[in-house]
Amino acid sequence: MNEHEVTVEQEIANPFHSKPHVLLLGAGASKAALPNGDKHGRPVPLLRDIAEDLKLDNLFPEELKELATKDFESAYSKLFELGVSEELNKIDSLVRGYFSKLELPDEPNLYDAINLSMRDKDVILTFNWDPFLMQSRIRLAKLGITTSFPQLFFLHGNVTVGFCEEHNTSGIAEQPCSRCRKPFKPSKLLYPVEHKDYQSDNFIKREWEAAQYYLKNCSVFTVFGYSAPVTDKEAIGLLKDGWGDVNDRSMEQTEIINRPGSDHDALSETWSPFIHTHHVDILDSFYDSFIAKHPRRSVEAYWNQYWEAKFISNNPVPQNFSSLSEMAEWFKPLVDAEKKS
Ligand SMILES: [Zn+2]
Repeated sequence: MNEHEVTVEQEIANPFHSKPHVLLLGAGASKAALPNGDKHGRPVPLLRDIAEDLKLDNLFPEELKELATKDFESAYSKLFELGVSEELNKIDSLVRGYFSKLELPDEPNLYDAINLSMRDKDVILTFNWDPFLMQSRIRLAKLGITTSFPQLFFLHGNVTVGFCEEHNTSGIAEQPCSRCRKPFKPSKLLYPVEHKDYQSDNFIKREWEAAQYYLKNCSVFTVFGYSAPVTDKEAIGLLKDGWGDVNDRSMEQTEIINRPGSDHDALSETWSPFIHTHHVDILDSFYDSFIAKHPRRSVEAYWNQYWEAKFISNNPVPQNFSSLSEMAEWFKPLVDAEKKS
């Protein structure tokens, strides 16, 4: 054994770190997970395409139709100002209806790899309304391989997640709250962007407070498929507040995952408030990230490489599992070592 080196076996055997790895997901993550649509071939729309894809533009008055297809959030905001509740309700229910119906294909998916590659000290923040992260979580939990999954926070609400106002708890929408047995009320999805106020809704407020707390305390921050934060100034402002002053952070690593061929310079510029000196990697695939190269040990690997200056070896998550149980089997040594420690 070499004291300057960490082998794959050593990495698996030693889950010693308690700091979280925070993964922020945007619509690009769902596009990467389901490039050909969901189980039934239904496309996963990006927010900017939603009016066209879901044929919502007909619900907008003539003067807002074009804006609706170009900048849906802004058009929705203007419609909100007009106070036409019938149209607003229709749009809400069409959006909710569409996203609720989406389904993960039966075969192992990128979302399964994400859920299994992080532990319960780690955190996923998602902007996505779609049900894929939760559907994956539910089917993996049924396999019984582990109960140590990353914590999930839904920054823009989610079709699968509901909230109990009285007990400030969330769970699967329409399932009973464990304290009062009343069904969790579905989380809100659409907000008028020009008045986007993350404080006005108790569920969203709680999710953002958690996001800021974990951003402040994480060692590694990975952004996957969220490339246009300029459209959501308040969101990026809140993320920045949570992260704090980049100069006060020492050594933390930031990773940006985007679709192949994206403009790396523009991405570095966008995310510069989150980048400590040169500690950034811009990647084309989730499988190139620290999470996928050091599953369930990403912060340990980061620590060994950057703080201890050791040579580390990759333990990459395979990309060609034929079944979920085969996938679970691959993660078993990692989970077993966690139970022992
Ligand atoms: Zn309750």
